[in-house]
Amino acid sequence: MKTPLIVVSAPSGAGKSSFCKKALEDFKELTYSISYTTRPPREGEVEGNPYHFVDRKKFLELKDQGFFIETAEVFNNLYGTPKNEVERAKKLGKFLIMDIDVQGADSFRRYFPDATYIFILPPSVDELRRRLMLRDKGKTQNLEIRLKKATDEMNQAPRFNHQVLNDDFNSAYAQFKKIIEELIKSR
Ligand code: 5GP
Repeated sequence: MKTPLIVVSAPSGAGKSSFCKKALEDFKELTYSISYTTRPPREGEVEGNPYHFVDRKKFLELKDQGFFIETAEVFNNLYGTPKNEVERAKKLGKFLIMDIDVQGADSFRRYFPDATYIFILPPSVDELRRRLMLRDKGKTQNLEIRLKKATDEMNQAPRFNHQVLNDDFNSAYAQFKKIIEELIKSR
């Protein structure tokens, strides 16, 4: 049996949080892994959804205590997946689905080589730029750095078990959904 862990990665702005959100509505067998971050909440975000928001000092304390499976610095902010999320999913008997960056997926591969790794590809870097501008109302922090990182990350896509091109959301989501359905069936 495969480790019941679904790692979803994509460049920032490729739409992966919409995939995870919809999948969580569609499958009661899934539970979402809530990461910790030092980045401030965006409009509409609150403590615990979609992150636990902590300051750098608290984050580093937790890291020193061995609280995280992996941590990564993304655009000058720290992000980390807590170990207790894996335990929580295990107790619930559910698949843990997580939205982490490519560095994080690499760390996970070392611990959980037989988890399922899904990469969401944006149609192009220009389209990614457009989506980020739209999402952040033209105020995306570190836009050029994000786009450069996106290009590097897209080169890593073949290392994932599945690649889903997010050109049209509905058809991309149908593909994503099928991957999850088959995983759940094979359990
Ligand atoms: P955002 O700030 O836009 O929510 O996320 C920025 C990036 O950090 C995204 O690529 C997201 O997948 C990634 N990220 C979120 N949580 C974690 C985590 O716990 N670990 C790692 N490695 N990356 C994360």
